Amino acid sequence: MPHPLVTRFAPSPTGLLHKGHAYSALAAHELARRRGGRFLLRIEDIDPTRCTRENAENIFEDLAWLGLTWEEPVRFQSEHLADYDDAAADLRARGLLYPCFCTRVEIQREIERAGRAPHGSEGPLYPGTCRRLTGSEREARLSSGTPYAMRLDLGAALAATGSGLFWDDVKHGRIAARPERLGDAVIVRKDIGTSYHLAVVVDDALQGVTEIVRGEDLLEATHLHRVLQELLGLPVPVYHHHPLLTDEAGRRLAKRDRSATLRSLREAGTSPAELRRELGFDDGG
Ligand code: GLU
Repeated sequence: MPHPLVTRFAPSPTGLLHKGHAYSALAAHELARRRGGRFLLRIEDIDPTRCTRENAENIFEDLAWLGLTWEEPVRFQSEHLADYDDAAADLRARGLLYPCFCTRVEIQREIERAGRAPHGSEGPLYPGTCRRLTGSEREARLSSGTPYAMRLDLGAALAATGSGLFWDDVKHGRIAARPERLGDAVIVRKDIGTSYHLAVVVDDALQGVTEIVRGEDLLEATHLHRVLQELLGLPVPVYHHHPLLTDEAGRRLAKRDRSATLRSLREAGTSPAELRRELGFDDGG
């Protein structure tokens, strides 16, 4: 029997959901409904400085108002930090991560000093300062208790995976993974002990997610996610990176655009059916 489709909506509870989130959630929910699959909701609350339980409760309320149903229990990432620690420890033990003690300011200075830094999709790439520390320099920094992040040693990672990684994207076709665009990315943040990248690939695999529906703003990250999946021996889902909704001025909707929040639409008298229609989910029930 073919495996059932499993998809998910995975918001970070940092504020109220807006129309863009509604689109992603509906698209994933619809996909599961049409293909007889399962729809999961996951709360990506690894950053305690930005995420609140109240925001998560508001997400449940908004999605229920929209007419969505999901499987219980909902996975809260903050309750599973040990899973991300285990994955990071595995990568570290294999020499694929290295501690990075640099502050943002130091990285900026190093880039300026070098004069010409390779650029990735999100600006200058990390110049590799801490990758080049000698064993004893690294030990000294570690034993002095300096806080550190863990970065992917991309060279070592690609030596382990080979360079032929790709994923299938429903809208964009087969995409060759180009993790060089993100360089030695932070896999374990200094402040929260994991990262979005690590938590998302671990959870999608643990929860058996087979199709990932999310906005095109996360397409860049998928280049790195493919490497992490390969290194950790995780299955590769099919991706649906959809265009982002924009406002009348063509600007991408953000959590700060209060007028587009589901709560304000609801309070202004918009019905869920109207919103579903506006977003193109006119399924007639
Ligand atoms: N938690 C991420 C966000 O809210 C989305 C993660 C994903 O869909 O992969 O932007």
